[in-house]
This record gives sequence, C-alpha cells and structure tokens, in this order.
Amino acid sequence: MPITLSRRGFLASTAGFIALHPFSATAAANQAHLRIMETTDLHVHVFPYDYYADKPRDTIGLARTASIIKDIRDEATNSMLIDNGDFLQGNPMGDYIAYERGMKEGDMHPVIIAMNTLGFDATTLGNHEFNYGLDFLMKTLAGADFPVVSANIAKDMGSDPTKDTTLVKPYVIMDRTVTDGAGESHDIKIGLIGFVPPQIMNWDRRHLEGKVMTRDIVDTAKAYVPQMKEEGADIIIALSHSGIGAAEHSDGMENASVPLARVDGIDAILTGHHHRVFPSKKYDGIDTVDTAAGTINGKPAAMGGFWGSHLGLIDLMLERSGNEWKIVSHGSEARPISRRNEDRSITPLVESQQNVLDSVQADHDATLAYVRRAVGKTDAPLHSYFALVADDPSVQIVSIAQSWYIAEMMKGTEYEGLPILSAAAPFKAGGRGGPEYFTDVPKGDVAIKNVSDLYLYPNTARAVLVTGAQVKGWLERSAGIFNQIKPGMADQVLLNPDFPSYNFDVIDGVSYQIDLSQPSMFDPKGNLVDENANRIVNLTYNGAPIDPAAKFIIATNNYRASGGGKFPGTGDTIIFEGPDTNRDVIVRYIVQEGTISPKADANWTFAPLPGTSVLFDTGPKAAGYAADVKGVNIEPAGDGPDGFARFRIQL
Ligand code: MN
Ligand code: MG
Repeated sequence: MPITLSRRGFLASTAGFIALHPFSATAAANQAHLRIMETTDLHVHVFPYDYYADKPRDTIGLARTASIIKDIRDEATNSMLIDNGDFLQGNPMGDYIAYERGMKEGDMHPVIIAMNTLGFDATTLGNHEFNYGLDFLMKTLAGADFPVVSANIAKDMGSDPTKDTTLVKPYVIMDRTVTDGAGESHDIKIGLIGFVPPQIMNWDRRHLEGKVMTRDIVDTAKAYVPQMKEEGADIIIALSHSGIGAAEHSDGMENASVPLARVDGIDAILTGHHHRVFPSKKYDGIDTVDTAAGTINGKPAAMGGFWGSHLGLIDLMLERSGNEWKIVSHGSEARPISRRNEDRSITPLVESQQNVLDSVQADHDATLAYVRRAVGKTDAPLHSYFALVADDPSVQIVSIAQSWYIAEMMKGTEYEGLPILSAAAPFKAGGRGGPEYFTDVPKGDVAIKNVSDLYLYPNTARAVLVTGAQVKGWLERSAGIFNQIKPGMADQVLLNPDFPSYNFDVIDGVSYQIDLSQPSMFDPKGNLVDENANRIVNLTYNGAPIDPAAKFIIATNNYRASGGGKFPGTGDTIIFEGPDTNRDVIVRYIVQEGTISPKADANWTFAPLPGTSVLFDTGPKAAGYAADVKGVNIEPAGDGPDGFARFRIQL
C-alpha cells in the first residue's frame, strides 16, 4: 500500500509531532477509509477557559478540539464524530445550568448546543451525566440532534439484557454511505453501543435508587452484539465510558474496556472515564493492550484525554467482499490541542473554531457572572495563615465537605455506620510559594471562583479503611513538618522548610496533641526513621483514647489514598474511589448549605512545653487574624525574610 503524506500529516509535523500512517493513503477501489473521531470526558468544557481561575486556558475546550475535527473532515472521505460521555458536569458552566438557570422543558444545554453545532453522530452516557438527576438529564438529552446510546442502564430489567427497558437506546445501527477508493458510494450499517460504569448506582444513589438499575458491561455487550449483527450491523463500535483496566473480567467492574474488547463482534473501542490518552505509554504493561499498535485485544481503540484536550482517532480501512465489509487494517492515535514544553509552558497547537464559541457565548458570559458572584456565605473568614500551627477554617471546610460526601457514599455499603474521619492539608501555605501564597477568603460572600482557592488541585475523592493505629501513624507522618524542639529554650525555628504543606494532613473527627519535644517518626519524604518516636499524644475518638484495633474510614483524595506522601494506612486500603473531584464536593456542600460555618474547633494543638517558644513565618496579612486563633498563643515577632511576617508561639 503506498503511503502519501496527507495535508494533516504536514500540519501535524509542523506542530511538533509526526502523524504518519497508512491511512493517509488512498483506499483501493473496493476499499473505504473510515475515520472515527472521539471526544470524551468533555465535562462541559466548550470554551478554552478555566472558570475557577477565571482565565483562559490553552489545554482545554471543545472549541479547540473542533479545529482538529475540521482538519480531519476536510481531508477524510468518510468520517464519524462520536462523544464518549461525561459531557454534562464537571465545570462551573455545568453547575451554573444545574444550580442556577435550570433546565425547563425545551431548554437547550450549552454543551448540547456545541455538540449540535459540530454535528456529532452519537454519544453515550458517562457516570457524571447522572450527577444532577434523571429529570435534568432527560431534558438535556431532548435537545440533542444525535442519538444517545447506553445499553447497561435499565428502567426495568428483563430476564436478560436484551429484554430490559433501557433508559435510552441501548444501541443504534446507522445507515451510512461510504465512498470507496474509486469514488463509488456504498451503503454500510454502523452499529454503536454504549456502556457506563455500573457504579453509578452507588455514586448517584440519591438520584437513581428505585428509578434505574445497571448491569455488568461485558455481560450486556455479549447479549446485545449478536442481536446487532442479526440486524445487519457491518461493523460495531463500542462507546465504552469505562477505563482500560484489568485484563480479566470480574462482575460489575468499573474499568472494563479490556475484557469488553474480547467480546466477539465488537470491532473497535472508544474508551474514556480515566481522563487519559490512548494510545499512550500510560497503558504499557497491561495484558492484551498494545500501546504501539493502539489496540486492545488486537482491536483498535482510542481515548481522547479529557476536557477536549485531545481528539481520539481510529482509522479503519474497510474492504468490501460481496455484501460484507471487513476491516483489513487499522490505526489509532490521540491528537492533542496543546503541547507542554520542557519549561512547563503551554503552546496551543490549534485555534478555537469561532462558530463553536459563538454557539455558547451567551452561556459562557452567564457562567462568568456566576463564578464571580456569591453562591453562598461563610460566617468565618477562610484563610490559611495559621494552618500549619493551629486548627484552621480553610482546612476545616474541606474536611467537613469530604466527611459529608463520604457519609453519603457509604450508605448501603458494608461500611455504613463505621466512624468517618477526614484528612485535609493546607495547599496554599506560604513556603516556597511566597508571602502572598495563602488562601484568604474574607467572611461574607463566597463565590465559585473562591473554591479553587480552598482546593487547589483537581484531586478526586477517596475513602480508605484504616485502624486506630494507622490513624496515629498518619498523624505521626504529618507531624514530621515540625523541627524537634528543646524544652525550656526560646525562639526555636518551628517548621522544616523541606516538608511541603500539602503533606501536612490534619485529621478531623479525632482530637490530638503534637509533642514537639519528641523526634519525628518519619523524614520529610515519608521514610520511617524512628519507629518508637511518639509525637502524637492524647489521641482520642469520642472523648476516649483511640483503640489501635478499631476501624475507621478516612475521607481523603486520590493522591493520598493511593500512597502519595507514603502515609501509614494508605496505598492498599482504598474502599471507595469517588468519581467526583474534592472541589466539586465543596461546591455542592456550599450550594446545599447556603451559609457555611467552618469553625476551627481546635481538635489538634501543640502539647504544652512550659518556658519554650518557637518562631514561624507566614503572610503579613496574618496579623489581622492572629488574635482569633484558638488553642495556641501567637504573638507578632517582627519581619521574616522575603516579605514574610514572623510570629512567636509560647508553647
Ligand atoms: Mn470524566
Ligand atoms: Mg467518568
């Protein structure tokens, strides 16, 4: 097969990467080249704009991905554009529509407007489509000019999946015409079937219980695919809103794309949910996954990142023999809209498509107004100036929201009723970030854009199951941020500058003191250096000393739960992987509560060391709050270096 360089290949190489593969070649007379384009996990990102930071961002936005779509359509004889789910929730535009404007009968949702503008051929439902409830979802879908398929969500279950009354169409078989290499048109039937993680029943229990049920992804596929073949589907593409995980099928698995690829009759797999890119080295080492060939179980697969960061692309060379089409060769890739340079700067690789921007301009403007105005109130200032030396409202609000969320998620599980603690750390706490690098939201109105100040990272919520002994170990790890202090000496330096504040977890739901006279159990990297060290004293739960054998749930984030910072009780203790970001959890909490009262309750303090004092540096704006800090005796001690202000604590 001759290889010619396509126009896109040229553009792509000038943009810093090479996209050369056999599909730049012309199809033969009995062959048709079909390009399947995929967006996934858009999460309402149409504009290249970060609404939390309230500034443009070159790494995101369907309006940008649209330029790659346009390029491919311009050069391809035959193409389809498919979205793989999680389009409805996940940024303030989504929240604005759901919480403020609402969806009345006949209203159009901006992400659907943008998708209609781009002429999507189909989408499937991701787990986040259910975050605002079924009524909201169905009103949104009513505006789509394209079919929505999902096979494993049923309003009524039958004796097998094909007998279910599904929430939306389980699959569609699209009658299409493709042009072959000789310019002749031929009919082809393209089957599209969609799948969602069955875990939506847990994640959105309050919206779904009693209304829908879910089935296992692979079992559902096995039931429907033969029926699609009988109905004449020439090729079948799975819209798998499910990640690339274990090779072996297990009942109800969340990330089922690998065993799904083994289902006979499925020809290609669009994946998502993981917010990653396929093909990419991220997925090296999984049985039957070939990241060089872009295949799972030998079948072409793609995952187009998230928030419009990439366009997933599967190329199929179809060959006609008699009345049948078969795939004779294939390729897959994921094309980025931006490039991260070595100095971490971002270079956009494409421009926005103006018609896509225009289509949702009014909703974009309304969202900007929404993130800038109050959506709730706080009756205490939310600042982190003293977050490393005392229980603190900016950390407290994160813990409160996390506990609230995890308590809901544990309902109906075997863990319901276990005590729930919450771990949170101050992300913005000066240090190398400088004297302005603190969370500082004054008492009064809270706007959505403030939430990014409260929760800096796009982490997702997790719960771990730990023992009382591990709770203590977790706190010993945190307490490594402090230098060892000599009793009876004045003005000793309190904080170890090599210990990042994001590893200073405070655990809410227990009470404890930190004895600074003792050595640390861990070094700043989390290596155990003194297993008999004992900084955490008077650790109590419900007023009684903690039982080392008792079980506790700790609400935290994916970074910590998966072992980030090497905390005792993490790594292999995860019992719940939430689909929601901690930031979303905080927004929901504020919207629900209206007024939040993030009162620090001084559940942790330094153990008294009479005649001893320590110094630490914080932002100069801290001065106005020093008198309000509970559980610790803070006084100004002049200027610190580099614009910091110095304070003294009498232990
Ligand atoms: Mn997603
Ligand atoms: Mg998802």
